[in-house]
Amino acid sequence: MNKKGLITGITGQDGAYLAKFLLEKGYEVYGTYRRLSTPNFWRLQYLDIFDKVNLIPADLVDDASIVEAIKISNPDDIYHLAAQSFVGASFEQPVGTGMVTGLGVTRVLEAIRQINPKIKFYQASTSELYGNSSDKPVNENSPFKPASPYSAAKLYGYWLTQIYREGYTLFVCNGILFNHESPLRGLEFVTRKISNTVAKIALDLEKELKLGNLESKRDWGYAPEYVESMWLMLQQKEPDDYVIATNEAHSVREFTEKAFDVVGLDWQEYVKVDKRFLRPLDVNFLQGDYSKAKKKLGWEPEIKFDKLVEIMVKEDLDRWERWQNGEHFPWDALNYPSEVKIVTRALSV
Ligand code: NDP
Ligand code: GDP
Repeated sequence: MNKKGLITGITGQDGAYLAKFLLEKGYEVYGTYRRLSTPNFWRLQYLDIFDKVNLIPADLVDDASIVEAIKISNPDDIYHLAAQSFVGASFEQPVGTGMVTGLGVTRVLEAIRQINPKIKFYQASTSELYGNSSDKPVNENSPFKPASPYSAAKLYGYWLTQIYREGYTLFVCNGILFNHESPLRGLEFVTRKISNTVAKIALDLEKELKLGNLESKRDWGYAPEYVESMWLMLQQKEPDDYVIATNEAHSVREFTEKAFDVVGLDWQEYVKVDKRFLRPLDVNFLQGDYSKAKKKLGWEPEIKFDKLVEIMVKEDLDRWERWQNGEHFPWDALNYPSEVKIVTRALSV
């Protein structure tokens, strides 16, 4: 019989890639989605797997819907990816982020404990746990120093996962994933914001790119490779926690320069720093040492920084060209017209 996997947050970047990966492994795939006024299935449609997955409505603030999702799907494995995942938004909605990104983990773990403690569980932990920690690069033993409501909520989820592993001997793992990007990344994240705007500038659809902290450095990897590590963690004999990264750090400025290079333009002519995109507190440097994952999971990243930027810019360019030629396809960019004014308190420091 096929194994069954339940993905919370299947409509997100990682949820969509993981669903595709698990389908290719022969899994029966279930995923939770939120009931929204406008459906948000574009990533599943873009990967051409929308009709191959089973969708269950559930919200992380609603315990009953989580219990229902687990009972309906009766999974072998749960990949808990659903979260309010954007650091910037967590400064605007600190309480909601705690309720969803933090307490949501407890709701899923508690449902597993009560319904079927044999279910294996993957928790989407994050490099943001390290925040402005002193170690460079960081590994599984480095100290945590969260620097946002998002990372504080994720730290709570990280510890809950360890507590349920030790207290109830559940098979649960923390994947401490560093930033991973792709053409399916949300447009509010800096990489996709850059690739999308650069594509529009190249086609004369946009005039400038407004960014915040250009000096911030991240360890950016390629999302389709990272979802494989989630599965690998649940295939081991013992549950454990793993850093997943590329062990390279590059700045937002470098990403921007490289992205403009791809379309043959000089970034300095188009980029403006806008205070609205600065954060009350930022993490200035993140670089991950993935030696443990390499040794124990046999996992290693292949797509590095230059290639990642190229993939993202070329795909956004291709989409805007197809759109200019009148083609219709599942896509998020049209829902983010650049003229819209988003006014926030936290970001206007
Ligand atoms: P996305 O923001 O793309 O996806 C988040 C998913 O969570 C979406 O499916 C979203 O649904 C769902 N969701 C949000 N709020 C709720 C809620 N209240 N109830 C149920 N579902 C909800 O994130 P990614 O795919 O990039 O990331 C996956 C996970 O990995 C997240 O937990 C993230 O914090 C974590 N992570 C991501 C990293 C990265 O670089 N991408 C790095 C490290 C960790 P909807 O589509 O309806 O909004
Ligand atoms: P994060 O690492 O999860 O916070 O991912 P983001 O892509 O949101 O941000 C990565 C870094 O880019 C952070 O240090 C941001 O402050 C910085 N940054 C600079 N300009 C921008 C911007 O316009 N938007 C976003 N989202 N981040 C920006």
